[in-house]
Amino acid sequence: MNNVIIYCENENGKIADISLELLTKGRSLAARLGCKVEALVVGTHLHGIEQTLFAYGADTVYIAEDSRLSPYLTQPHAAITIALFKEVQPQIALFGATSVGRDLAPRVSSALNCGLTADCTELIIGEDRLLQQIRPAFGGNILATIINPDHRPQMATVREGVMKMEALAVPVHGALLRLNVHKYLNDSHFVVSIIEPHIEKRSIDIKGAPIIVAGGYGVGSKEKFTLLFALAKVLGAEVGASRAAVDAGFVDPARQIGQTGVTVRPKLYIACGISGQIQHTAGMDQSAMIISINNDPEAPINKLADYVIDGDIGDVIPKLITAYKQNGK
Ligand SMILES: Cc1cc2nc3c(=O)[nH]c(=O)nc-3n(C[C@H](O)[C@H](O)[C@H](O)COP(=O)(O)OP(=O)(O)OC[C@H]3O[C@@H](n4cnc5c(N)ncnc54)[C@H](O)[C@@H]3O)c2cc1C
Repeated sequence: MNNVIIYCENENGKIADISLELLTKGRSLAARLGCKVEALVVGTHLHGIEQTLFAYGADTVYIAEDSRLSPYLTQPHAAITIALFKEVQPQIALFGATSVGRDLAPRVSSALNCGLTADCTELIIGEDRLLQQIRPAFGGNILATIINPDHRPQMATVREGVMKMEALAVPVHGALLRLNVHKYLNDSHFVVSIIEPHIEKRSIDIKGAPIIVAGGYGVGSKEKFTLLFALAKVLGAEVGASRAAVDAGFVDPARQIGQTGVTVRPKLYIACGISGQIQHTAGMDQSAMIISINNDPEAPINKLADYVIDGDIGDVIPKLITAYKQNGK
């Protein structure tokens, strides 16, 4: 009762990274509140999946397993989630801001009349023990802190990559509770069925890259982005971009980093011709090391950077490539 619960997405029995990130955050919220962390998994082929969830700190794992529950369908997943939340009365419920979470969380919050804060960038327990749900507002120009004093659960969605994902050194010796899905479901939940799921694989995946060479509007053209691809190649890096570079058609939108793109936290982030507006830095300011290459010494990104190279990317990047080829491993 009154615990922190995470709706855990899975595909063919593998828990999604976003859910492990939310469990990691849920652990710290529960520690502050002195309550437990719970996980709900709905799907098929879930045998042994609880071990992963215990490793990420779930004290209780609820499993709703049935051959009709995968791939994801709104009606049955919502029916199970709403019914379980009514039973266990969580004080906080977290969902991924994924296609599944964006579909499911509003239905759950509407059924429970409890409100929902989408796309949170931070979640903190305040002095009053309420969940502070922090997210960009008014076009991203300010960060708003939203609290929900009156309704439970306090519900939030978070995008993939925003929170850290950390397994425990020693897994929790948790409890596994298998739900009787027939108690929650009837035929009316299956009026829609999926005939053939078709899932496009991500062609560009910058989220997990340890090194990112990111280009902004200052790169100047699609052709000049080839310089960044050349540097990325010698460094074993991925190429990212600001929204201005994407909007200008320099690179594929899948490379966009920031508030409306991907959130990354690589070991090294090389920002080339990026000014460093908050909507961009929101997606990369947790990088372990940041190098900025910019011809404006006053560019805001330089304040965030560990190293600044003051110069034109057309001059600097070829020199970096040559130097790395000569001196690199
Ligand atoms: C709701 C909303 C969501 C948004 N989401 C995102 C998002 O997810 N990601 C994102 O990136 N932005 C986002 N933006 C846009 C953001 O506000 C900025 O407009 C954008 O990040 C600017 O991109 P930029 O730094 O590449 O371009 P600019 O701000 O134009 O900066 C270009 C930089 O390049 C430098 N430069 C120019 N020429 C050279 C050269 N030859 N050599 C070296 N340096 C050079 C300049 O000094 C400057 O610092 C969002 C905006 C809104 C309103």
